Amino acid sequence: MAMSVYAGTTLVEAQKMVEGDYSAFDWRRRIIYCQVYLGIDPAIRDAENALDSDEDKPVVVVLLLKSEKMLVKNRVRRLSAIKGTRILSDEELLKRTGYIFDNEKWDGSPEGIVMRASNGVYVVQCDAVQYQCSLRGKRDAFSKNQQVYVGDRVKIQVIDEKHGVIATVMRRKNQYKRRGTQSKRVVLIPNLDGMVIVSSVKEPPIWQRMLDKFLVIAEASGIEPLICFNKIDMLENRSEVDSMVALYEKIGYRTIITSATTGEGIEDLKAWMKGKISMLSGLSGVGKSSLLNALQPSLKLKTNEVNPRRGGRHTTVATQLYRLDFGGFIADTPGLRELHFWDIEPRLMDRYFPEINSLRERCVKGACTHVYEEGCVVQAALKTGDISRFRYQSYCEFQ
Ligand code: GDP
Ligand code: ZN
Repeated sequence: MAMSVYAGTTLVEAQKMVEGDYSAFDWRRRIIYCQVYLGIDPAIRDAENALDSDEDKPVVVVLLLKSEKMLVKNRVRRLSAIKGTRILSDEELLKRTGYIFDNEKWDGSPEGIVMRASNGVYVVQCDAVQYQCSLRGKRDAFSKNQQVYVGDRVKIQVIDEKHGVIATVMRRKNQYKRRGTQSKRVVLIPNLDGMVIVSSVKEPPIWQRMLDKFLVIAEASGIEPLICFNKIDMLENRSEVDSMVALYEKIGYRTIITSATTGEGIEDLKAWMKGKISMLSGLSGVGKSSLLNALQPSLKLKTNEVNPRRGGRHTTVATQLYRLDFGGFIADTPGLRELHFWDIEPRLMDRYFPEINSLRERCVKGACTHVYEEGCVVQAALKTGDISRFRYQSYCEFQ
């Protein structure tokens, strides 16, 4: 049975392939393609992510394969498996996948960010103005297929001072995709710039393994992390925190020490968040809501409303963005702040530890796991103390 897989590439390379020149298609060296997928969603994501550095506009090509057997672990192993190649047009891509890349036709239209979405109404923030928007063409392929998420950058056609129509979605910078602990629902937030990973230094004490886990999630999602040690006012002796700061800064991470109670570090936190779309993550009780309140008092009310009927915090599952007075946005998805679940491919784990990533190519064996191999540069660095034993143990455990 013939079948098709999709992959992202550049227009120039795609055209070569259509003409039968598969020279760019080399799996061992993986020059062009990041991955080939059976499903379209991840293919689109990688088409965007992998090719960000490329000058050419990314396109999606579909490879027609002779048989399903030719796919080994979702990956084409032999060129003989390729029966044909086709570039998908924007319109066709949209019909099949619900996705369209930025469309030059809308170049002059105002651009905004989707702040909230419910029942087909999208609240879009364009500079200082908010518009309530619907999707273009109620019955055409765009609104049937296009997935628009909170966090998406969109172009709108303005109808009046309060209303508009979403005309097109801009390329996503990245996609943060996780399952909440309670609802198990998959939540997707595109275009996140920053993740503030909050730990508390006391009550509860720093859970370093969990910190490493959050860092891996940030790395794997392409989001810049900031490590925040909160409740510093509760400690008389800061030496343990100082050594933790030294450990993570040596790796290259930014860290910050805060107290939502005394206000220490809050200005630095603001400076980091300014202009970004960021989210706060961390376990329950570490002080995320308190930090929000310290950053901007009006936020706490919104993110932490008490449900009058059930008496507890209300647990909306929908993601929302809030505008920060000092510039930027904060994404809030309550169920996601305390996540345990992840779907990271274990064999790629070494990429998500910067101190291991920078060494991994020097390992003697190509696919070194850095656990038992001879001539492993990572294990050598562990012995000399260049890599922290705790971090290395995190790496082994997550793998
Ligand atoms: P969340 O579950 O992460 O949102 O945590 P909360 O913001 O609800 O905070 C949990 C508890 O820690 C509350 O009782 C807060 O008053 C307290 N707390 C939060 N931040 C600080 C801080 O910086 N210093 C102190 N002493 N207590 C804090
Ligand atoms: Zn190794």
